[in-house]
Amino acid sequence: MSETVSETIFTKIINKEIPADILYEDELALAFSDINPQAPIHFLVIPKKPITTINDIEEDDKVLVGHLYWVAAQLAEKHGFAQEGYRAVMNCNENGGQTVYHLHLHVLAGKAMGWPPYQDKLKTL
Ligand code: AMP
Repeated sequence: MSETVSETIFTKIINKEIPADILYEDELALAFSDINPQAPIHFLVIPKKPITTINDIEEDDKVLVGHLYWVAAQLAEKHGFAQEGYRAVMNCNENGGQTVYHLHLHVLAGKAMGWPPYQDKLKTL
């Protein structure tokens, strides 16, 4: 991990210190377009509270994390892709592909997503 959560680019977006294409904002969450889209529609929903990774979600954050999915669904409805569908994912740490250490939900839409994301030897948990 190369940066502490208080230093991430997302804190600067929350504080309006750097610009972003903001799609939604309330007291708990912010949604904005991903700067490097991986689908025709790609935006991020983040908590204003700085939570580093999924592993750092505390019991008191459970409603907040649910709120991020609610925001995603509201935006999917508003922008007309709720029914055709979308992917909403969080990456965690290195193997998950996380690069910004402030919790964020990716919302990808506008085309059929590939599945599975990984094809190799499976490991029994
Ligand atoms: P992850 O790899 O899951 O940590 O995702 C981080 C995401 O943040 C990537 O999809 C980046 O393209 C996106 N990102 C990084 N900086 C910005 C920024 N300034 N504005 C919008 N999205 C950003």
